[in-house]
Amino acid sequence: MSYTRAATATDDTPATATPAPSATTGADSAPSVTIADRLRDHPRVQETIMAAARAAARTRSRSGVDSGAVLADGAAAGASTQPQTQTQIETRAQAHAMSHAWLFTGPPGAGRSTTALNFAAALLCETSGAYGCGECQACRTAMTGKHTDVVHVVPQELSIGVDFVREKVVASAAKRPTVGAWRVVIFEDADRLTDGAANALLKTIEEPPAHTVIILCAPSTDPEDFPQTLRSRCRHLYVPALPVETIVQMLVDEGASENHARLAAHTSLRHVGRARKLVNTPAIQQRRAQAINLAEAIFHESGGFQAVGQLVKAVEKEAKESYAEADEAEKERLRNALGMGAKGKGTQKSVSGGAGDLRELEKQQKKRQTRRLRDVLDLALVDLAGIYRDALMVKLGAEVDLTHPDFQPLASELAEHLDEAGLVECQDAISHYRELLGFNVSPQIAFDGLVGRLRCAYRVH
Ligand SMILES: [Zn+2]
Repeated sequence: MSYTRAATATDDTPATATPAPSATTGADSAPSVTIADRLRDHPRVQETIMAAARAAARTRSRSGVDSGAVLADGAAAGASTQPQTQTQIETRAQAHAMSHAWLFTGPPGAGRSTTALNFAAALLCETSGAYGCGECQACRTAMTGKHTDVVHVVPQELSIGVDFVREKVVASAAKRPTVGAWRVVIFEDADRLTDGAANALLKTIEEPPAHTVIILCAPSTDPEDFPQTLRSRCRHLYVPALPVETIVQMLVDEGASENHARLAAHTSLRHVGRARKLVNTPAIQQRRAQAINLAEAIFHESGGFQAVGQLVKAVEKEAKESYAEADEAEKERLRNALGMGAKGKGTQKSVSGGAGDLRELEKQQKKRQTRRLRDVLDLALVDLAGIYRDALMVKLGAEVDLTHPDFQPLASELAEHLDEAGLVECQDAISHYRELLGFNVSPQIAFDGLVGRLRCAYRVH
């Protein structure tokens, strides 16, 4: 799950409500944290979003909500043959600041979804001239994704098909807003779209309904990963990872010790959600240590294979168990909704019809489980890659922060026994097997293969 700070918005007000200079006027004196303030760690993101929100409000008030006044890129209302006044030029410039279709990219855990929800709040804010006061009902519900005009689509599958897109995104985007001025559709993990699904979305992105803003989010540092047809029709916004200090402060505010917070911020590679989990969940701390210690086990004849076997088993168990309760509860709800388990005449028919629905749900749950398993295995590989990176930094005498400061002795040991080429080989091997896992290779086979490659790089064959 990605980082959502919004839920604690009201609790952390005293700690973060610094009277920072802000692009907004009139809202700074408000006791709660404005949207502009929430985005202050990313100045460029802040500037883009506030300009878009102002432009959206302005076009709306000039032309009225019903005329579909906000323009898709370029098609400005003032494009007449008459000489233009200063106001018209300004209006056009402002119209350019807004777009119906956005693509938010950035490294995992940088806070794309939070940024998207903040954008929704800036658009839906009810305080005149504030563009996200952070206080009104619309702001508060939009930031937590609970606003009736904010649709937050979070796919659970590894790849997103046509039906999903039609049902969850295209249909949602077509509806008119109920209470707010906009309907905001936030679509997570849009990089998982199949080609067919991307095509199904194309028309909506190209000619979006006048009241709709669609924000596609993709955990990627390279927008090239994203289907070109969609990318070229969206305004692109890159959301960089938060600075270490910001993450540390955030975790300390939430009750973590400074030491733990700092370690988690580094180790998670500035992935906020992961850093938070690391601070709060002992099982995840253990698995992280298990993954990093693989680097030590590789030195020993069969140690690597054993350690890998244990790691894969632990991850599989976690993927299954951590959601077993939620999955069972979901099934129970469906059974009740279908009237299964009810006694009496006429229930038999609905039960046989419901069996298909239940099977469908089980299929979905299985897919989700597979995705979680891949995600956790991938994280383990990211942790392992971190220790080789640290070893290389130690070897080169580079003065940089280590990814795993608490495993510094291991990094030094690796730096001592492996040559530079070997350390680079280890990192390459890990990248290769991360990719393979994405292609549905069995985890055990992938990890065994990885151990073989690492042993070669260690020259211990
Ligand atoms: Zn507001």
